[in-house]
Amino acid sequence: MDLKIEKIKESRIKEVDFSKLSFGKTFSDHMFICEYKDGSWQNPTIKPYGALTLDPSTSVFHYGQAVFEGMKAYKDDKGQVFLFRPQENYKRINKSCERLAMPAFPEEWFDEALRTLVALDSEWVRPGFGNALYLRPFMIATTPGVQAAPAKDYLFMIITSPVQAYYTGDIKVKIADYYSRAANGGFGFAKAAGNYAGQFYPTREAANEGYQQVMWTDDATHEYLEEAGTMNLWFRFGDTLVTCPTSERILDGVTRKSVIAVAEKLGIKVEVRPVKVSELIAAAESGEFKEAFGCGTAAVISPISGFGYKGKDYSVNRPTELYADKIKETILNIQYNRGEDPFGWRVQVK
Ligand SMILES: *Cc1c(COP(=O)(O)O)cnc(C)c1O
Repeated sequence: MDLKIEKIKESRIKEVDFSKLSFGKTFSDHMFICEYKDGSWQNPTIKPYGALTLDPSTSVFHYGQAVFEGMKAYKDDKGQVFLFRPQENYKRINKSCERLAMPAFPEEWFDEALRTLVALDSEWVRPGFGNALYLRPFMIATTPGVQAAPAKDYLFMIITSPVQAYYTGDIKVKIADYYSRAANGGFGFAKAAGNYAGQFYPTREAANEGYQQVMWTDDATHEYLEEAGTMNLWFRFGDTLVTCPTSERILDGVTRKSVIAVAEKLGIKVEVRPVKVSELIAAAESGEFKEAFGCGTAAVISPISGFGYKGKDYSVNRPTELYADKIKETILNIQYNRGEDPFGWRVQVK
């Protein structure tokens, strides 16, 4: 890749108060942009972060060919910067692209662009647990014209945003008994913009009833639990930690995979199997339901304190020692180079 770099004249970093960041609102000095036209990716460029100008008829505004990724860069106490399992994201965006009839972005280009961008803006990665540079690669269709067909032109970009510890507090979730996030044969497994647009209305309805998230169920029966917002789900029944299998309706999270590996390493019994809503209710009533949490790049783990189903609330009977805390700490230690990395997940950026 012949990567062109246009550096910013003067960094904006002095204007940023790193102790008062709202998630995803502040962006670093540079961005990566690459164009797809005439059947190939061209003009890979890193340049100062800034606005795009697009024709109002641009395809993405009308037919929604848009996919993205979410990852982070972490800094250790010596100032070294690391990515966490980035190859997983390179592969996943291309799976999303394929399902939305968009061109793949070469993994080697993605890797070089990301490393160069993070290295250039490494001052924006702050050390300390919770501090990170959130990385948002994405691709949009840019062909002008309102014909409903796959576009011929695309932009692949990476923007980056400094973030602090993402602490949502304990969340209460509503189990979906009517709306669906994804269906068989659909594109629920893709990190595609449309999957999120469709969640906002039911999530707002749940928020009006006092829940922070919707826990999605399968579209055919609404009997099986799937995922929540931008998180995969975990349940602890007695001493066993359970997550449902991924499918074409569920996003295959990097954090989920990492939780499976770390929990097994910690000697926790893990089961990957379908989980029924009725099982959750029975376990909540018997007191066997000990923990529930969502997992994803933004917060690593978000504890769930209770859930609502068809107008009734249930709570999770949490012990003082939580699997969630042990697992989260182990993952953070790997991400921030504070512990050994037996899995080889850390990738240093130089
Ligand atoms: C991004 C996302 C996740 C979590 O994936 P990670 O790779 O762990 O960040 C889970 N579910 C949905 C719907 C998502 O968009």
